[in-house]
Amino acid sequence: MHIASLFQKKRTVLSFEVFPPKKTSSIDTIYSTLDDLQGLKPDFISVTYGAGGNAGDSATAEIASAIKHKYHIEPVAHLTCVNYTKPEIEQILERLEQNNIENILALRGDISPDRMPKKEFNYASELIAYIKERGGFHLSGACYPEGHIESENLISDILNLKKKVDAGAEHLISQLLFDNNYFYSFLEKARIAGISVPIQAGIMPVVNKAQIERMVTLCGASLPPKFTKMLQRFEHSPEALRDAGIAYAVDQIVDLISQGVDGIHLYTMNNAYIAKKIMNSISGLIED
Ligand code: FAD
Repeated sequence: MHIASLFQKKRTVLSFEVFPPKKTSSIDTIYSTLDDLQGLKPDFISVTYGAGGNAGDSATAEIASAIKHKYHIEPVAHLTCVNYTKPEIEQILERLEQNNIENILALRGDISPDRMPKKEFNYASELIAYIKERGGFHLSGACYPEGHIESENLISDILNLKKKVDAGAEHLISQLLFDNNYFYSFLEKARIAGISVPIQAGIMPVVNKAQIERMVTLCGASLPPKFTKMLQRFEHSPEALRDAGIAYAVDQIVDLISQGVDGIHLYTMNNAYIAKKIMNSISGLIED
C-alpha cells in the first residue's frame, strides 16, 4: 500500500514507530510488543534503522516484514544513507524488496564522530532522488517543526525540506514536539514554501524522565513550562509521571486533530501499554 494514498482516504492518519531491540535483547521482545500494538489498528507502523546501536542492518527489514505478513499492517522501513555507499544501499533495498516492503522513510542519519561518512550520499534528498530513479518504493522524509539541530534557522531548513519533496518524498513525518504551536507555525511556513504533501506530527509520550532528557538533548525539541513542571512534580514517582505523560500526549493529540492536521505519528518507544492507553482515550476522535 502506498502510504501517501492513506491521506486521501482518512481525515487523520494515525501511525506508530517502533525500533529493533538492542543487540543484548532477543528480537522476540519486539514481537510481543507488536502482538499488543496490532489490536490498536494503526494505519501503518514504521521501523527505525540503525539508531541507538540496535540489532543490526537486517533487523529493520525482518521486523517490517513481520509487520506486513504476520500482523497485516502496512510497514514503513526507515533507511539512513550517510554511512553507506551506493552498492551498500542497493543491497539493503534488495533485502527490502525480497520482503515486499513498499514504503521507505529515507533519512540522512546522524553524523557520528566515530564513523566517517562515506560521502556518496550527503543529504536525505540525495537518497530520495537515488531511490526514486531506481524505482520500486514509495518515499517519505523527516521534517523538523523547530528546525533541524544543524540548520542555521527554520527557513533554510524548510528550503532544504522542499528539496526532499522535489526529489520525490510524498509524505513527511515530524520530529517529536511538546508544544503544538511550533507545528502549526512550521506547517504554515512549509505550505507557503510550496510543500503540499501530507505532514504528520510526531508525538512522544513520556516513559520516564531520563528518556525525555536524552531525546531532547539529541533532537533539540523545546520543553514548554507546563511540560517541565510536570517532569519536576512527578520525577520521583514513575507511575504518576507515566500517567501525567499519557494525559499530556492525549491533550496534544486532541488539539492536533481538532486543528485538522493530516496525521499523528506516535513514537511508541516499544511501550504497548502507553500506546494502548493513548489510543483508548482518542479512539472516538479517529474516523475509520
Ligand atoms: P537531511 O534532510 O539531509 O537534513 C540534515 C541537515 O542538512 C539539515 O540541517 C538540513 O537543513 C541540511 N540540508 C539538507 N539538504 C541540504 C542541502 N542540499 N544543502 C545544505 N544543507 C542541507 N535516525 C536514524 O539513525 N535512524 C532512524 O530510523 C531515524 N528515524 C527518524 C525518523 C524521524 C521521523 C525523524 C524526524 C528523524 C529520524 N532519525 C533517524 C534522525 C535523523 O537521521 C537525523 O535527524 C539526521 O540528523 C537528519 O536526517 P534527515 O534525513 O532529516 O537529514
